[in-house]
Amino acid sequence: MTAVPTDRPADQPADRPADPTASQPTVGSAKSPMVIAERVHKKFGLNEVLKGVDLTIDRGEVVVMIGPSGSGKSTFLRCINHLERVDAGRIWVDGQVVGYEQRGHHLHELSERAIARQRAHIGMVFQHFNLFPHMTVLDNLIEAPRRVFGADREEVTARAEVLLGKVGLRDKIKAYPRHLSGGQQQRVAIARALCLQPSLMLFDEPTSALDPELVGDVLAVMKDLAASGMTMAVVTHEMGFARDVADRVVFFDSGVIVESGPPDQVILNPQHERTRVFLRAVR
Ligand code: ADP
Ligand code: MG
Repeated sequence: MTAVPTDRPADQPADRPADPTASQPTVGSAKSPMVIAERVHKKFGLNEVLKGVDLTIDRGEVVVMIGPSGSGKSTFLRCINHLERVDAGRIWVDGQVVGYEQRGHHLHELSERAIARQRAHIGMVFQHFNLFPHMTVLDNLIEAPRRVFGADREEVTARAEVLLGKVGLRDKIKAYPRHLSGGQQQRVAIARALCLQPSLMLFDEPTSALDPELVGDVLAVMKDLAASGMTMAVVTHEMGFARDVADRVVFFDSGVIVESGPPDQVILNPQHERTRVFLRAVR
């Protein structure tokens, strides 16, 4: 277990956040933001991929992240669920510091098991669906709730059936992933993440590997999820989705957030030249 003193200098995990009102979110409080990221830095070797990212996501908010390839969007999402460890800065999800627990004046990295439990409250959907190929759709959905939480099989199966109905795949419950289209597999992946009853969903380019005719069904499922009040962070270049569904669009470039605002402002009337150049390229 790593002990991180909380009085480190500015390039280490921050203990004196820039915004004092954000420094002590109440655990699980209905009013605290769902995500607070403060001065997040991440390097791979000499490559500084995140150079001080600050972002707050309110409960029920849908934030779409756009930006050029290599700008750090995926790395940032992976830091939110501790698939990557931040080098400096700090992230809270639902009032808890991601990957660490505070004891006295020190932060201690959580055990693998505790990290798995924390991560289970954060659903993640990737470009490639990563379903277990040797398991049926149902088993893909119930595996993690049973393994991580020891959930009762009948109870979690009932939940899985409801979720598969919501994503339009109730009839595929016994199918194997190889018998499904890419769009169907991605909807199973969304249902699988939801089966853990997450409080936050992260999507990393969920439709970019799909044939164009399959994109709409996946976006429709995500739109329903947003309408149900789920807090979502979505990396996507589907600008129609961003304009319809996002509360806020955030533009990343070279490891920083360059611009952030309501979708119509950022997409139709960007304030920064870098955003304009990028948007011309994706349109
Ligand atoms: P984006 O999602 O915006 O395209 P990424 O976060 O995937 O950007 O990548 C940002 C930079 O970090 C890229 O230069 C990429 O090569 C690098 N990178 C990402 N993950 C790793 C890793 N595990 N090891 C080394 N470099 C990485
Ligand atoms: Mg990416």
